[in-house]
Amino acid sequence: MGWLGLDDTDHLGGGCTTKTLDELIKGLPSEVKIGEVRLVRLWPFARQRTRGNAAVAVELNCESEEYLLEHLDLWWNEKISPLAGEISSSENYDRLQYPADPGMVWFSSKLPDSSFYYNAVREEVNLEDVPVAERNWGGQGIIGATAAVAWDKSEVTYEAIAWRTEKNTGLEKSRLIDLERLAEIDELEYTFMSRDPRTGNTMIAPRGPCPVLFGLRARKFEFAYDSACHLLESSSTERNSGMRVFTTNQASDDHLGDDLCDVVIETEILSRGAVVINCEENKLLAFSESGDIKLLAQWLIKSDKIRFNGLKNEDGVYHLERLKIDKSSVLKERPHCIKCNVRMKSMGQNQPVRCPKCRTRSEQKWIETPRVPPTLDWVQAPLDSRRHLTRPLEWN
Ligand SMILES: [Zn+2]
Repeated sequence: MGWLGLDDTDHLGGGCTTKTLDELIKGLPSEVKIGEVRLVRLWPFARQRTRGNAAVAVELNCESEEYLLEHLDLWWNEKISPLAGEISSSENYDRLQYPADPGMVWFSSKLPDSSFYYNAVREEVNLEDVPVAERNWGGQGIIGATAAVAWDKSEVTYEAIAWRTEKNTGLEKSRLIDLERLAEIDELEYTFMSRDPRTGNTMIAPRGPCPVLFGLRARKFEFAYDSACHLLESSSTERNSGMRVFTTNQASDDHLGDDLCDVVIETEILSRGAVVINCEENKLLAFSESGDIKLLAQWLIKSDKIRFNGLKNEDGVYHLERLKIDKSSVLKERPHCIKCNVRMKSMGQNQPVRCPKCRTRSEQKWIETPRVPPTLDWVQAPLDSRRHLTRPLEWN
């Protein structure tokens, strides 16, 4: 019959929109049947984004829309509206914090166009740009809530989310998860990003006070569901207050446009190996955590032709998410003096080169050495430094 979207009920200090939706679903009258449940990641640079920058939605069916809306009105007023204004102290975080400003939307006769979803996952969207719902509640969260409903599911993965018990939620102690079973699950073909292959550490459990116990990702619904049950049934896994499988846009690359090409002018290596690449058309940034991207970026020199993709920050700099060498340039250097082994220097335009020490001259002005790139394939950041939205290269 329709879709309910929800966003912006959490803040860095606690809460989670997935939990708020789970409680809403559990509180629905018995005659309301639920269909698909979604978790949609949005533009990572949005100014008022929430912690994981995720919005959620659920498909609802009921004989009487009026009856359903009455129930949702009550639920909004009692359970969700009071979450507005929750904010954590900014001193521990590197960006400005906004108070939670929950939003909820109900679409039934006409769903929002998927173009709105693509705007919300690729750029800043304002409240006045949001397609109008049959009913909406609240503030800023209406943007993400509507985007979650507008998602066209061109690429789909799944995440089974389990929540901590009320007693454990908010405890800073790390979550207990059966690591032996997790290792088995990590081996399954359709699960992904469960364990960091370099360290063996779990990648499914968040840290801090949020109510999520774990989020287990898979490319097929039943693998997410079965694996989550397998973990929860173990006595070595912490007790939980429920689990639900969300359909997600994670690992879809929906946030990226087409790959771009450019020619390197110069590179600048910053602290911890991060690299700024100044190109003819664009300025690119390879972060120190970006692994193979950073290493390839450090290798680049003038005139190398490259292909790349990433998101542009507010200063117009691309944060690289993948990088590839199309054609490497030839290294051009002055010859060395045969006697002193010192590099010779130009004496001026159309003049021979000369040794700065013994003044021997050479008619050969340049030595050209072809460079062999470390790889001609695309490279990507390691698993633990990727965005939720980034699609693994090995899936292509
Ligand atoms: Zn010399």
